[in-house]
Amino acid sequence: MTTDIWINESLYPDWGQRFLVKRELARVKSAFQDIVIFESFSHGRVMVLDGVIQITEGDEFVYQEMLTHVPLLAHGAAANVLIIGAGDGGVLRRVLQHKSVQRAVMVEIDGEVIGLSKEFLPAISGDAWNDPRAQVIVGDGIDYVRRAADASFDVIIVDSTDPVGVGEVLFTDEFYASSARILSPRGLIVNQCGVPFMQADELRDTSARRKKFFPHVSAYVAAVPTYVGGFMTLGWAAKTDDLETCSADIIRARAGDILGSTGYWTPEIHVSAFHLPPYIARHLPK
Ligand code: SAM
Repeated sequence: MTTDIWINESLYPDWGQRFLVKRELARVKSAFQDIVIFESFSHGRVMVLDGVIQITEGDEFVYQEMLTHVPLLAHGAAANVLIIGAGDGGVLRRVLQHKSVQRAVMVEIDGEVIGLSKEFLPAISGDAWNDPRAQVIVGDGIDYVRRAADASFDVIIVDSTDPVGVGEVLFTDEFYASSARILSPRGLIVNQCGVPFMQADELRDTSARRKKFFPHVSAYVAAVPTYVGGFMTLGWAAKTDDLETCSADIIRARAGDILGSTGYWTPEIHVSAFHLPPYIARHLPK
């Protein structure tokens, strides 16, 4: 008799999701975290870091499209993009779909995540790793932004783990101060900011911090099925106020910058994602 094998997410002590495992593909303890990649019956291949679901083949398009297309099309002429974290390569792939992008620098602290993603998650990264515009660096994001040149990027995308462990430094005053310095005059930074139904402090605390260094702080939402608890928020901090309020017509006119189709992002979804339900909006700085 075969026994079913389930993997339970351990993000919350008293609530969570589980996946029936078809087969385990990798289980590695890196210098930074426990990494598991497995084949599920329900969502294709899944990556787990320290017991937290990071990305699944089934719904990664929702998250990666919204974390990437929204800031790049709001900016309108993003040539130099910095990606922090995102070791699965999904954000890099979406950034490189933009014809405006000339340089995409990706700084991921854990080389094991990159190696295992290349081997087991090619459906997420596609051929992004080999794009001549891509520069992939294994290193700590805080060190990179500390050293980067003034006004050297148009958009920064932080696709990190939650603000615990190695990810914590990416939610600090120092990180946001450096990010503001290395962004161009119309630059902006977006970051994964958790599921406010369960992690409201992540949105509240980091938004208050971003407000110290950016005049325009907000958030937008995406419905990512495997980030359990309702809307996932993506933190937004910009130097100018015209980016967040771009009309659907402007965004629609810019959508031709994206090579290829989308499964979640549309100009209407882009604009509506900033209209937050009160239970989320109340955590943003006034
Ligand atoms: N989509 C996921 C989420 O929303 O939680 C994140 C996926 S991605 C795999 C998260 C990546 O951030 C991990 O590979 C982790 O190694 C990386 N990371 C964490 N802290 C970092 C740091 N200080 N500098 C660079 N990368 C970091």
